[in-house]
Amino acid sequence: TVGAIILDQAGSMAAATSTSGLFMKKSGRTGDSPLSGSGFYVDSEIGGAAATGLGEDIMKGCLSYEIVRQMAEGKSPQAACDATLYHFIAKLKKRSGQTGAISLIALNKQGAWGVATNVEFPFCVATAEGGAQIYFAQPGQ
Ligand code: ASP
Repeated sequence: TVGAIILDQAGSMAAATSTSGLFMKKSGRTGDSPLSGSGFYVDSEIGGAAATGLGEDIMKGCLSYEIVRQMAEGKSPQAACDATLYHFIAKLKKRSGQTGAISLIALNKQGAWGVATNVEFPFCVATAEGGAQIYFAQPGQ
């Protein structure tokens, strides 16, 4: 999945995802990526989030909505991504003893961003003034 969250110069925000789904998926499967709240979510007055990884897990937690909800309560994008991912992973592990790969990105209306992952995860931050920078997030960072 490729996910993007955009803040334009007028303060409008958008989020989008594009995916081929999971390798060897069953015909007709719908993952998290096309579902608002799960694969992506945005509110221009707060910020946006997007997810990639095992859709069957991501959908159980409506993780993109949850990140935006936590940002609305005052958390930074980084704190919201961390809290959402680690709380959810702990819950999944308690229930089933395992979890798939999950990576989350967020951007708020001030332009601050955050990322959390339980695998190695490449992402890019681009600004109108500063070009683009590629990062590799690690689990627990
Ligand atoms: N989230 C996608 C899905 O479950 C897969 C992916 O991110 O690679 O369909």
